[in-house]
Amino acid sequence: MNHFELTGGELACEGVPLTRIADEVGTPVYVYSTATLERHYQVLREALVGAGLGDPLIAYAVKANSNVAVLSTLGRLGAGADTVSEGEIRRALAARIPAERILFSGVGKREAEIAFALDAGVLEINIESEPELELVEKVARAKGVRASVALRVNPDVKAGAHDKISTGKADSKFGIALPDVERLYAKASNSPGLRPVGLACHIGSQISDLASMDEAARKMRGLVERIRAEGLSLERLDLGGGLGVPYFNQPEPPPPSEYAAMIAGVVKGLDVQLAFEPGRMIAANAGVLLARVLYVIERPDGRRFLVLDAAMNDLLRPAMYDAYHDIRPVKPREGEAVAYDVVGPVCETGDTFARDRKLPPLQPGDLVAFMTAGAYGATMSSEYNSRPLAPEVLVKGDRHAVVRARPSYEDMLSRETAPDWL
Ligand SMILES: *Cc1c(COP(=O)(O)O)cnc(C)c1O
Repeated sequence: MNHFELTGGELACEGVPLTRIADEVGTPVYVYSTATLERHYQVLREALVGAGLGDPLIAYAVKANSNVAVLSTLGRLGAGADTVSEGEIRRALAARIPAERILFSGVGKREAEIAFALDAGVLEINIESEPELELVEKVARAKGVRASVALRVNPDVKAGAHDKISTGKADSKFGIALPDVERLYAKASNSPGLRPVGLACHIGSQISDLASMDEAARKMRGLVERIRAEGLSLERLDLGGGLGVPYFNQPEPPPPSEYAAMIAGVVKGLDVQLAFEPGRMIAANAGVLLARVLYVIERPDGRRFLVLDAAMNDLLRPAMYDAYHDIRPVKPREGEAVAYDVVGPVCETGDTFARDRKLPPLQPGDLVAFMTAGAYGATMSSEYNSRPLAPEVLVKGDRHAVVRARPSYEDMLSRETAPDWL
């Protein structure tokens, strides 16, 4: 469900025609729908509460879409934030998400970042390894505080739509191996610098069947019971994110209600506060990348290239994960569908969004929208080929606002200086 619909023959985001945004702000540009963001958060929350899961913490995974206006939109509904760097913690705080709802995850936290998180008073640091546990302990003791920590477990479960986004197998870099969890939990419990409050896991992204999540959740339940049987206190179980979204040509992922029912079955009778870290399922369908057709090139062999003003630096997912994005003309023309290779201007063959994609006929100057681009779109963009970062626009009803401006070339060049020998 999203709020990008054809109205009067052209695609609009809620009450704002996309043409208006493109004309005003230029292309490429990301456009986000407030109503869709809010709806996805509410649907998940209602499903979890409705399944009898108490008052869970929904810590939105900031890396999916970290725009401060997006974070504020979700924070106002009660969302927390799952962060993986000091920069993301700072964004969540700037969006006025209280520190008591911020989790700090990530496999390579630096000492200064740990110190920052402790000073900010985040709810918990999710520890991914024994050396990290020791570093957090050292930083906390130097400050004379006890750091609230959870152990991020690697439950050794395969999940995720692509190897690059599968994180829960024993051979991935993420999390503490199952055989080490109880020993490290006890070690943390005995440390004057640490207060272990629970366990966490996150097995992958774009997950479309519940079996792997069910398996991981059961393993987590077993650990909770064994740790408590040792007389140690454990109050929170964080089951991560990872629920997939439909990218048009894929099987429908399970609805939040089924997910919630599965979790409720697994944690039945286990008295814990639950936490979740959804990213993609909240933000993906809430955003599009708008681009303009620069050229239509026809080769002698009949192959047609649609050259857009958006490129892999703006939307990396097709190049990085072979991801499929639905591409929709903003004002579809009449006529028979044409097969296009949809490409950007970057000097790499990888800069191909789609091959042989059947689309309504398009002409130079036409606008197209990459659907389902609200997650891992703008956050993964770069200035490759010295292309300015695409701006971001947030829509609410019939209003819209630029929430990240396109940098000027002067902005881009001002970050660089010549050394004095030049
Ligand atoms: C990326 C990530 C998430 C969010 O994953 P989605 O697939 O976007 O829901 C949650 N938790 C952690 C630790 C992550 O790294």
